[in-house]
Amino acid sequence: MSLLSAIVPCYNEEESVSIFYEEFIKNEAYLKSKDIDFELIYINDGSKDKTAAEVKKLHERDERVHLVSFSRNFGKEAAMFAGLEKAGGDYVVFMDADLQDPPSLLPEMLEALQDHDSVATRRVDRKGEPPIRSFFARRFYRMMNRISQTEMMDGARDYRLMKRQMVDAILSMKEYNRFTKGIFGWVGFDTKWIEYENVERAAGETKWSFWKLVLYSIDGIVAFSTMPLQIASFAGILFCIVAFAMMIFVIVRRLIFGDPVAGWASMVCIMLMTSGIQFLCVGILGQYLARTYMEVKKRPIYIVKEEI
Ligand code: UDP
Ligand code: MG
Repeated sequence: MSLLSAIVPCYNEEESVSIFYEEFIKNEAYLKSKDIDFELIYINDGSKDKTAAEVKKLHERDERVHLVSFSRNFGKEAAMFAGLEKAGGDYVVFMDADLQDPPSLLPEMLEALQDHDSVATRRVDRKGEPPIRSFFARRFYRMMNRISQTEMMDGARDYRLMKRQMVDAILSMKEYNRFTKGIFGWVGFDTKWIEYENVERAAGETKWSFWKLVLYSIDGIVAFSTMPLQIASFAGILFCIVAFAMMIFVIVRRLIFGDPVAGWASMVCIMLMTSGIQFLCVGILGQYLARTYMEVKKRPIYIVKEEI
């Protein structure tokens, strides 16, 4: 008999916890027919509502439900990592609590896993999402694939089924700044993609504000590309060349036409522009330095308060 571990990160999902369970359990007959046992690991990411109590209720009904509660909100990335560490299964799957990762796809995914190392899902549309968010998300993936060697699929969900080998590979990446969408690509292995239409949240509301997503995208860029640093260096070289050319131009003009006092406005523009670029480059450097700082501290990725 083999074991399937389902990891469900939850942050203020009191309404979704049991709805999710009911939906997931519909696969029980299928799993049994394939001789697969399952464990359902809810990671309570510092919820401020009754998420933990809801999971405990489920645990009393069904031994296969587990709960790991964090001491505070560490973010979905930390929750996913904790889930992987706790999961004992031969197969591991990540699923959102809000049913946006439909558990009904599991049989299809398990079938596909027969001749692949992992089965990932992507949504083919972004129905129900604010248009601005979709626009920037698309731009982000476009840019990411250009500036990073690691491939990232637009519309990819974190809903992914993996074999043990891939799970161990991901666990070997202990970095503090985690960007799982990149990590999945980075570890490689052969992945089958399954597409489905976007499903709207079953209950509750999204935990991602636009600003949180912007910061998350910067995490992704810094974690999987050093291109911004290269761009900063090239900007420096470019500006030196331009400055040198200007110098020659000014000297030659002085020798030919004398020195009329003019050009104050253009001077100010040039100064503002160059100092702006300088700040930008220092900022880019700072982004990398800040992440390096956090990595060097080697803080734990999450802290567990309670485990059932
Ligand atoms: N989540 C989490 N910690 C967080 C934010 C979100 O564990 O800090 C969980 C959340 O409970 C849900 C999943 O991550 O199960 C996806 O979050 P959400 O549905 O809010 O994101 P969206 O689907 O809108 O992108
Ligand atoms: Mg969701």
